[in-house]
Amino acid sequence: MLPAREVPLLEAPGGRLAEDVVSEIDMPRFDNSSMDGYAVRAAELASAGEHSPVVLPVRGDIPAGHAEMVRLEPGTTIRIMTGAPVPAGADAVVPVEWTDGGTTQVRITRGPAEGAFVRRRSEDVRAGQTVLRAGTRLSARHIALLATVGRDRVRIQSRPFVLVMPSGNELVAPGKPLGPGQIHDSNGYGLIAAVRALGARAEHGGVIDDNPDAVTAALADAAGRADLVITTGGVSAGAYDTIKEVLGKLGTVGFEKVAMQPGMPQGFGVIGPDRTPIFTLPGNPVSALVSFEIFVRPALLRMAGETSLGPRLKFATATEGWSSPVGKRQFVRAWIEPLIRYQEPVDEELMTHGYVVRPVGGQGSHLVADLAEANCLVIVPEKVAQVASGDQVVCLILDGETL
Ligand code: AMP
Ligand code: MG
Repeated sequence: MLPAREVPLLEAPGGRLAEDVVSEIDMPRFDNSSMDGYAVRAAELASAGEHSPVVLPVRGDIPAGHAEMVRLEPGTTIRIMTGAPVPAGADAVVPVEWTDGGTTQVRITRGPAEGAFVRRRSEDVRAGQTVLRAGTRLSARHIALLATVGRDRVRIQSRPFVLVMPSGNELVAPGKPLGPGQIHDSNGYGLIAAVRALGARAEHGGVIDDNPDAVTAALADAAGRADLVITTGGVSAGAYDTIKEVLGKLGTVGFEKVAMQPGMPQGFGVIGPDRTPIFTLPGNPVSALVSFEIFVRPALLRMAGETSLGPRLKFATATEGWSSPVGKRQFVRAWIEPLIRYQEPVDEELMTHGYVVRPVGGQGSHLVADLAEANCLVIVPEKVAQVASGDQVVCLILDGETL
């Protein structure tokens, strides 16, 4: 987990609270009126009615912010505004709507119950009470509460700073013309967007050329600047897979073939004097983004202080079948939707389930356009060779999509 830092209150929204917040004050701080009206002794108005009004002399005004201690004498009333301190001796407020609104004397046609329209001291928060717990993701409601108890600064968890560094001699930034054999760098941009969508900070660290000196220099620099480094490409078994070649020699980064599809070649470890964590994701764009969801996302959330790391999973009924490689966990690009929006005729049995899902497009790990059409990944277990229409499957929801 990264260290916490103290920020001004208005820089805190969206951040994760890194301290328990204790209020030093009671809220409300004093008994105060919840209406514009008249401070009274309820017992004196027990007989008040439409045809039996009680008339009381008005002994001044108490507006909100009034600092002097005032006392209500028996047989009198004081005009009081919403939020103003209730005078000593008063035990209720009569709303102005129950009166003729008089300023020297007032006719009251309805008696309040004892305590009516009085907000009691500390009924919301008691001094010494913990009002927010560390780990809370701060939204407008929490900022309002922090301001209420007087906090102008608050400790929040630092957000990880991630450098994304794609590797490959063929890569050209979008916006630049493509020469022979070149392609646009999609991983750099897609992964930065994915990191930022989680609330972490991310920048492009520059494309790394496929030669050992370039890789060594780029990663040494990145390790000194970032909390986490993500590279893509250069980790399979080819001749120019330089990331693996260089980092493999350090002994602090492990390279594995993970039994998954897509995204088999993976590397993870630490680099540099600060032991900066690094994920070396595969180069194929779909593999890179799927690997991010499965491996990098939980790590980033943990670094940022999140404790519930589980992906957003939903059960759904497959409306089409497909085959799946035995021995690998398959992540299938798919479209999930609530049954209630499903347009096709569905049989009775399907109607009992909440969601339906169907695969979209081809499953090649270079098919970026098909990935963009998906809103989830169906997770098919290693032992399954075939998913049939009507099967219950587990779907990992992509983006912040709410269904
Ligand atoms: P590699 O893992 O370096 O062998 O790359 C596997 C495939 O992914 C190749 O077709 C690469 O051209 C492609 N690729 C690698 N990096 C990127 C990237 N940043 N953006 C788009 N495609 C990439
Ligand atoms: Mg490459």
